[in-house]
Amino acid sequence: VSSAEATQAHIDRIADVDSSVNAFLHVSDHAVAEATKIDERRAAGEVLHELAGVPVAVKDVLVTTDMPSTSGSKILEGYMSPYDATVVKKARAAGLIPLGKTNMDEFAMGSSTEHSAYGPTRNPWDLDRIPGGSGGGSAAAVAAFEAPLAFGSDTGGSIRQPAHVTGTVGLKPTYGGVSRYGAIALASSLDQIGPVARTVLDAGLFHDVIAGHDPHDATSLTNNWPSFAQAAREGATGEVLNGLKVGVVRELPDAAFQPGVAESFHQSLAILEQQGAEIVEISAPHFEYAVAAYYLILPAEASSNLAKFDSVRFGLRADVPGTVEDVMAATRDAGFGPEVKRRIILGTYALSAGYYDAYYGSAQKVRTLIQRDFASAFASVDVIATPSAPTTAFKLGEKLSDPLAMYANDLTTIPANLAGVPGISLPSGLASDDGLPVGIQFLAPAYEDARLYRVGAALE
Ligand code: GLN
Repeated sequence: VSSAEATQAHIDRIADVDSSVNAFLHVSDHAVAEATKIDERRAAGEVLHELAGVPVAVKDVLVTTDMPSTSGSKILEGYMSPYDATVVKKARAAGLIPLGKTNMDEFAMGSSTEHSAYGPTRNPWDLDRIPGGSGGGSAAAVAAFEAPLAFGSDTGGSIRQPAHVTGTVGLKPTYGGVSRYGAIALASSLDQIGPVARTVLDAGLFHDVIAGHDPHDATSLTNNWPSFAQAAREGATGEVLNGLKVGVVRELPDAAFQPGVAESFHQSLAILEQQGAEIVEISAPHFEYAVAAYYLILPAEASSNLAKFDSVRFGLRADVPGTVEDVMAATRDAGFGPEVKRRIILGTYALSAGYYDAYYGSAQKVRTLIQRDFASAFASVDVIATPSAPTTAFKLGEKLSDPLAMYANDLTTIPANLAGVPGISLPSGLASDDGLPVGIQFLAPAYEDARLYRVGAALE
């Protein structure tokens, strides 16, 4: 098929199903025209990238010049960016076709996409269930065949947990491996952009396009990455599993997971062993404090990052009389949803004089201990495996009024962000207790993203 036909087919699919899935906040009105240009270049004999002409859904956390960028918030309703995020620019340069902007929890805060100011996304496997979050729109779009590829962002699991609950593949790169320039910041020391796809190889092909140094991002790494697509192709032979040491975390016992999730995990471990991998129990004694440390560090950084929504520089301005402070307060009151307000209050409190050392300081110490847990684990294993989340897709509304229950869902994804290491979630089957998708997560040392593609493709 031509790119124009493929792109039109996805636009048609969106028109058919998105009124019930709500994965997209905006659909491009010029995607087919862009695809036609790619077809013309190819017909003229130009040698294009392997992914040229393939449509891609863009999480609304990334700014784009040709479509609004809201990060799921009312405060940015209709906002048009004067520049493209570096990763979007790279995707366009490779000939990928941005299809539209996908729904997400407001400012990427959440695990269910129910905190979007534009209504929740629904899980295509069961429309009464959540598609994960914050990148539920991207994962649902890929799972519902509305897009073959999507951008995600992962601060505490927002690529991997949506992949887990929708039966898709998602990878959080090593911190600094992919540019954050033009990604609306949630918590800058944790945020990473990465691929969402239906296969490990597709994710690797897309990751190759977006990886690499960006002078616009001060924390961008300068190393040369190997080809992740090549790694996935090597892994597909399965030989990589022979002799591979896979760490299983003692402090994440089966009791921490829904029975069907734990069962699927053990089935995957059995397959790994059959293929010659060695399962090694490792200890990560500080993982149990990861969620607590994260929910101090994240609100602290987020409260600072969101200070720029001051009614003057970006987006909404409330039409109220009074001083600059009155307008600012009314704007932030009207523009931010309850979860965002909760985290701003938590974060400013944790950073305030007198409490800083007790809260933020302690959380940073826990972060260091978690980094050491990883370092000692990776001295004896090649990868760590965990279930990607404690449960399968829960029901819409189930955890919405209980923030701590929502936060607890991030148990297995958060440690990777605190340590900056890469992680992948790929489908491990359907849970025997509720028939819903389950993902297995692999974590590798920093810079070893290619290892995750090898192992993921071997197990796939
Ligand atoms: N669920 C986590 C949170 O609410 C993850 C967010 C993310 O990765 N963007 O913060």
